[in-house]
Amino acid sequence: MKRIFHTGSPEESRKTGILLGSTLHPGDVVVFTGDLGAGKTTFVGGIASGMGHTDRVTSPTFTIVNEYREPENIPPLFHFDMYRISSSEDLYAIGWDDYLREGGVCAVEWSENVEDAIPEDAIIIDITCGPGDDDRTITIDDRRG
Ligand code: ADP
Ligand code: MG
Repeated sequence: MKRIFHTGSPEESRKTGILLGSTLHPGDVVVFTGDLGAGKTTFVGGIASGMGHTDRVTSPTFTIVNEYREPENIPPLFHFDMYRISSSEDLYAIGWDDYLREGGVCAVEWSENVEDAIPEDAIIIDITCGPGDDDRTITIDDRRG
């Protein structure tokens, strides 16, 4: 099912992320397309809150993956940024299969760089900018069964 949201501020995008985050289950994969500064990391911050995570979400651009494992009574969130990764081989090299099996939620920015590693039932989110500076169109294609 495809849903389209129009937001006019980072807070609104975050809230949209919270709504989705509160519906996620262990093993769900959420992948993002959209340019630098579109709001992918902002949205993942909302997902984290919606799942019950309290740590602040920051961009994993330089670390490739940030792991949110606290509190322990909720599924962990694994937040990937594939900006610097050019093929899915690199993703498997950092343990993608293990992350998928661990029973967390995986959120993947720049998923277009690792397309062939993305499961078929992933939730696909595209964020586009404009017309105003703070306007965003967030398209959520939820392919969970
Ligand atoms: P990305 O991860 O896609 O590179 P970020 O979430 O890191 O993007 O940054 C988005 C930037 O755009 C932030 O500086 C944020 O304040 C700004 N912004 C402005 N309007 C919005 C909006 N409607 N939704 C999300 N971010 C917005
Ligand atoms: Mg980002």
